[in-house]
Amino acid sequence: MTKYKNLINGEWKEPSSGKYSENINPANTDDIIGLFPLSNDADVAEAVKAAREAFKKWRLVPAPKRGDVMRKVGDLLVEKKEAIAFEMTREMGKVFEETKGDAQEGIDTAYYAATEGRRLFGMNAPSELPNKLNLSFRNPIGVAGIITPWNFPMSIATWKIFPALVSGNTIVFKPAEITPKTAHTLVEIIEEALRSVLGKDYIPGVINLVHGKGSVVGEAFLASKDIDLISFTGSTEVGRRINEVGGRMLKRVSLELGGKNAQIVMPDANMELALDAVLWGAFGTTGQRCTATSRLILHKDIHDKFIEKLVERVKKLKLGNGNEKGTDVGPCVSKSQRETVMKYVEIGLKEDKAKLVTGGKIPEGKEFEKGWFFEPTIFVNVTPEMRIAKEEIFGPVLSVLKCDSLDDGVRILNNTEYGLSSSIFTNDVNDAFRAVRDIEAGITYINGATIGAEAHMPFGGVKGTGNGHREGGWTVFEFFTEWKAVYLDFSGKLQRAQIDNY
Ligand code: NDP
Repeated sequence: MTKYKNLINGEWKEPSSGKYSENINPANTDDIIGLFPLSNDADVAEAVKAAREAFKKWRLVPAPKRGDVMRKVGDLLVEKKEAIAFEMTREMGKVFEETKGDAQEGIDTAYYAATEGRRLFGMNAPSELPNKLNLSFRNPIGVAGIITPWNFPMSIATWKIFPALVSGNTIVFKPAEITPKTAHTLVEIIEEALRSVLGKDYIPGVINLVHGKGSVVGEAFLASKDIDLISFTGSTEVGRRINEVGGRMLKRVSLELGGKNAQIVMPDANMELALDAVLWGAFGTTGQRCTATSRLILHKDIHDKFIEKLVERVKKLKLGNGNEKGTDVGPCVSKSQRETVMKYVEIGLKEDKAKLVTGGKIPEGKEFEKGWFFEPTIFVNVTPEMRIAKEEIFGPVLSVLKCDSLDDGVRILNNTEYGLSSSIFTNDVNDAFRAVRDIEAGITYINGATIGAEAHMPFGGVKGTGNGHREGGWTVFEFFTEWKAVYLDFSGKLQRAQIDNY
């Protein structure tokens, strides 16, 4: 059994606790992928010290050169894409086609970051005084603590690490304990690219990887005075805690949290397209996406027909190991995630008294015995105040609500504490644009599923989904850089702004 290590100051090191946890295939719990460090405060302190030291030099490497490192990372990811996808499916369960997409998003993000190394534009402005020039620059901030979830083990990490590095920050990285392998491979690749591009000028400690539990390693990130910023994707509960502690310590914090995304279907929509979208949106990644379609809002005129067709299609979805051809839906990521799903099915039936039209149980059959499988599940007769309409489930469960107009549909869609993704199916251009205007979400798709963000676009949510920052594209560079204003006075005398000129 391979024992993996942390990367600290350019060296692969065992955790100081000497303890490890098993990385287990959720489709077959007999398959142990490897043993990964259960690190503690001492490992974090060492990693932060290395990152702090590395920052002194890395911030001075020209940004286009830092971009060259990203290009090399992109090239290495291209070479290893299929192998990464296979291992990712093995450790977290979603189907191979989707893990290839996850890896591709990392590649896109690397190449985008590479080019940003030659931009990182500042802004200049005229001075209110003669013979004076006003400039402003983006500066790196320092050590970035990166904490990621398990559902997109590659892409979410790259959305944070690549722009942070190109901006000139150094990294301490804690991936989710249950998906450490993809993170490990990613860090190996970044380290290889740093060594290859910087050559004799290689700087150890630019990226540090500390495996382990959020309650230990994550908490140590929060407590560290030497971590200047934290970029976090995960649950609302943990996000709140990070924001509280970060607020007290004046850390810069970016949060991407939960979602309760909805797809509206109007009577004039292309029904087959809307069906394809909801299948992909609700059951892709076994419903474990922050952008998953977990509510379907159907106009009353098409409701019954749509449900009939949807149930027919859902029953045909093939559950199984995501690395086997023909599988549509993989397992839940873990026992506890499946238990959460089962708890919500119980709530849907007993407390909410919604109607279950398909799924709702663990599938029967030998091939499912060793994995955390759960049938794709649909509830109808769901009303906005029900818990299954409001709370994030993060599994293959779809709640269907009825609306009687566009305004009613948008009102139902907005009736949630979250605001990440949304979608509307209509062929009426006026309805489409009214929906874009009125939907409270960071992302709205017209005639597309709630999932499928592109690497160069702003990504993030409103309301309880986050704290207003955006990942993706150039917008993420706002988080990872700090503005510096510079005034150049070449008048040869003391010029007093606001005083000498008015
Ligand atoms: P968690 O919040 O439990 O975990 C996310 C990360 O935070 C993990 O690395 C975890 O470590 C770590 N963590 C846990 N506790 C602490 C702590 N006290 N201090 C610091 N770090 C900590 O979420 P899940 O992993 O269960 O992911 C599911 C949730 O993430 C869902 O609610 C989903 O909506 C959200 N999510 C949001 C996305 C978005 O972009 N908006 C994308 C993906 C998921 P460990 O688990 O290893 O102990």
